[in-house]
Amino acid sequence: MKDINTILTDYIRRHHYSRLQPVAALIDMDGTLYDSMGNHAEAWRRMCEEAGLEVTRDEFFLYEGMTGAQTIDLLMQRCRGRHATPEECETLYHRKTEIFKSLPPVRPMPGARELTDLMVTVGMRRVLVTGSGQNSLLDRLPEDYPGVFLPGMRVTSRDVTHGKPHPEPYIRGMQLAGVSPSQSIAIENAPLGVKSAATAGAFTVGVVTGPIPRAELEGAGAAIVFDSMKECAEEFPTLLYNMLTLTI
Ligand code: MG
Repeated sequence: MKDINTILTDYIRRHHYSRLQPVAALIDMDGTLYDSMGNHAEAWRRMCEEAGLEVTRDEFFLYEGMTGAQTIDLLMQRCRGRHATPEECETLYHRKTEIFKSLPPVRPMPGARELTDLMVTVGMRRVLVTGSGQNSLLDRLPEDYPGVFLPGMRVTSRDVTHGKPHPEPYIRGMQLAGVSPSQSIAIENAPLGVKSAATAGAFTVGVVTGPIPRAELEGAGAAIVFDSMKECAEEFPTLLYNMLTLTI
């Protein structure tokens, strides 16, 4: 890995920012705060099997970040050669959610609590930015991440017209935090999520937490990539310190 100051300097120059200020953290949920992607992929696969849609389990790791409706539309176009109707989106997503809830409970991602507690300690504003609309996980956040997300500081699939990889979710996250792109750090595990955050102009931290290799996250626009949330939590203070002290 290049050293952090080189990464930051390149990033600032490329974006024509004067500097980077770590004022707000915009944090993805599935595969970042929760080890939930395996269950999501399995729920999608089983729902599609029931619906007669031919898919593979692993392809859902690549669609991560898209809203349920977008994913269903993509599958319908590929398997049936037409767009999904709003009714199909609702019924099939409902079924996928039912299956997800029936699977063994997901756990918070190791290292994520340390990272988010650190953000609280240094006084960064925190916003959840997720493509999910599933209450089974959203409702657990106050218990698993106490004090991290204040009321209203979340962007879910219900709050956006365009899901990731469109920049809208992260732009809305910045609006909620009252910050500009150069004051934002995004934490993401999926290529489409990285693309959404990077296009919105956030300094985007990619974290490898599943089968997607780091090159995919770099290719999608991650400014820096860590191999786990634990590593991200360990390196985060150095990243913040270098952001605050860097002079170009
Ligand atoms: Mg994710």
